[in-house]
Amino acid sequence: MKKLVITVMLISFSTALFASREVKGLRIWSGPDDTKAVLDLSDQVDYKLFQLDNPPRVVVDIEQTSLKNSLSVTSNPVIKNIRNGKKGKNTLRLVFDLNEKQKAKSFLLKPAQQYGHRLVIKLENEQVQKKTVQQVLNKKDRDIIVAIDAGHGGEDPGATGASGTYEKVLTLQIANKLAEIINKEKGMKAVMIRDGDYYVALRKRFIKAREAQADLFVSIHADAFTDPKVRGMSVYILSKNGATSEAAQWLAQSENKSDLVGGVVLEDKDNVLAKVLLDLSQNAAMDSSLKAASEVLKSLKKIESPHKKYVERASFVVLKSPDVPSMLIETAYISNPDEEKRLKTSDFQNKLADKIKDGIKAYFYQSPPPNTWIANHVTAKKHIVASGDTLSGIAQSYNVTMTDLKKANNKNSNTILVGEVLVLPNTLP
Ligand SMILES: [Zn+2]
Repeated sequence: MKKLVITVMLISFSTALFASREVKGLRIWSGPDDTKAVLDLSDQVDYKLFQLDNPPRVVVDIEQTSLKNSLSVTSNPVIKNIRNGKKGKNTLRLVFDLNEKQKAKSFLLKPAQQYGHRLVIKLENEQVQKKTVQQVLNKKDRDIIVAIDAGHGGEDPGATGASGTYEKVLTLQIANKLAEIINKEKGMKAVMIRDGDYYVALRKRFIKAREAQADLFVSIHADAFTDPKVRGMSVYILSKNGATSEAAQWLAQSENKSDLVGGVVLEDKDNVLAKVLLDLSQNAAMDSSLKAASEVLKSLKKIESPHKKYVERASFVVLKSPDVPSMLIETAYISNPDEEKRLKTSDFQNKLADKIKDGIKAYFYQSPPPNTWIANHVTAKKHIVASGDTLSGIAQSYNVTMTDLKKANNKNSNTILVGEVLVLPNTLP
């Protein structure tokens, strides 16, 4: 009799245990390359995924799991509907009805940041046509292409501000503004790495920039730090040997975790690329990165004094492009309540975008890639500072105002150096 009681208790205990595994919710992120359905789980699960045709659908059987809240899909271009049912006694069956056939991949993610255990179902359109890369490099008077990367996105919100603002939202707003004013510049064209609320894998970000044959890659961020008093902008380029300061190191790690948060760690197996990274071409790209980043920082200093006086170096994955000069701009710390508030205003976002553009422009006016409109039309009109030159003397001899001359060269002071190349504003487009 005693024995029987124990057995009964064991059964009910294990049933309770199984039933405690739950699917708690669903988030769907759709980008141009794929759609990710993220199921929030109470615990790690065992599951099976398979696909069926006519009509196209993806079926996921999650063992020993129940559904906590009903799941729904609202106006998604890829997933038409989600249904649930039971397979056997304890297996939850979820059926994703698709608008057209997709290639499904799936993986589990461990808890990270604000998320718990997750099951990610990634749907890739099989018909995604590889955009034919334009042969722009040989085109005479081509535009300079600036790839703008809005940090984070989709499942990865980035840092969260003191009053709850998501970094991913601000980065996209600033990136959009930057693209808009770059596109107004003659000889320059912006390409957005992401243009909506979806996640792009870190390595894919610079690969996309390379595919667009970008001359420069600019990643926009607004991060957080443990100390809410920390404030100010910073501009980073890639370091080969890790970060130069403790804060930079902390940031480098936190940024790189995105690959786990976004769930792309499985894709990160590109050995060929890893070798290319060691290539000498990266050294040249890094020299250019430093020049470009220095111009951007110089320009941003006109808004306020930055967090760090100099361009910093960190091992951010997005900066690891083997041949595209790259920089990452921390526009502010959204962990600082004042900065968070300011960063949300379109006035400040416009200011930021404008100064970043000025810095980029100054860099390309000084070092334009061959065949570009800027190389062919702007560079001939420069003045190289000689011994004995003064800024006012130069302004006078070219019949331009000091204000215009300083503006065209991103200068705050009248100091010039022998050998410095000055762009003449009356020759600007
Ligand atoms: Zn960030």
